[in-house]
Amino acid sequence: MNPVTVVTGGSRGIGAACARHLATAGHDIVFCYRRDTHAAHQTLADIHATGRRAIAVPADTTDPDQVHHLFDTAATLGPITGLVNNAGVTSPIGPFTDLTLTDLRHVIDVNLIGYILCAQQAARRMPTGSAIVNISSAAATLGSPGEYIHYAAAKAATDTLTIGLAKELAPHGIRVNAVAPGIVRTDLHTISGVPDRPDRAADRIPMGRPGEPDEIAGAVTWLLSDQASYTTGTVLRVAGGL
Ligand code: NDP
Repeated sequence: MNPVTVVTGGSRGIGAACARHLATAGHDIVFCYRRDTHAAHQTLADIHATGRRAIAVPADTTDPDQVHHLFDTAATLGPITGLVNNAGVTSPIGPFTDLTLTDLRHVIDVNLIGYILCAQQAARRMPTGSAIVNISSAAATLGSPGEYIHYAAAKAATDTLTIGLAKELAPHGIRVNAVAPGIVRTDLHTISGVPDRPDRAADRIPMGRPGEPDEIAGAVTWLLSDQASYTTGTVLRVAGGL
């Protein structure tokens, strides 16, 4: 039986790259998205082209009922053996003092509460031999001053979630790791108000360029594979030296 992996936020960006890579590696994929139906259909077609099964579910990861529905749908393909906790958002770049309560709550809701709700469903359902990868960020250790400290703090919470959950689930044979990307070329930066942020940031990245979604997906696919069978509780930084 093929592995069945849930990817949250799989319609675009890093999540879509993960879904494609995992399908190529033999995973059946169930991914969720919130509103970009066109992008979801494109990712679905790419996965089907690999010959794997795939379902796209419109589901908001901050809503427990929709998360439940996502995992119920995934379970129709077989036991859920993988989760990529990826659906995340930023808010407009700016000084800490300008942060609005609405933006703060939304960032915490999606990046922390959403991750926990999905990890909880996964932990309740996964058989031994399964694995979870949480998408963190290099921001967790850099702090993102002048940009979005609240987002960086939520990503630091992702790292802590990874460490605690890895220890709690290890006796059940479930591995939990994180991937911390640096600055990656996706539409996330449009929401932050600086669409060309990846290229503008190139000067301060030791490798001199932003990352591409496929370069993150390779690390995620490895962490979900049997080759990573003794790897748990780690945060793998994929950030071009940042
Ligand atoms: P994108 O904005 O390109 O894609 C985000 C994806 O998440 C979309 O599929 C979107 O779907 C979905 N999504 C957003 N909110 C929700 C929600 N509440 N419920 C369900 N789906 C949702 O982002 P990236 O690919 O850049 O980011 C992916 C992850 O990587 C995030 O966790 C981000 O914090 C992290 N990251 C990104 C970096 C970067 O430089 N890009 C750097 C470090 C970490 P839809 O469009 O349909 O709403």
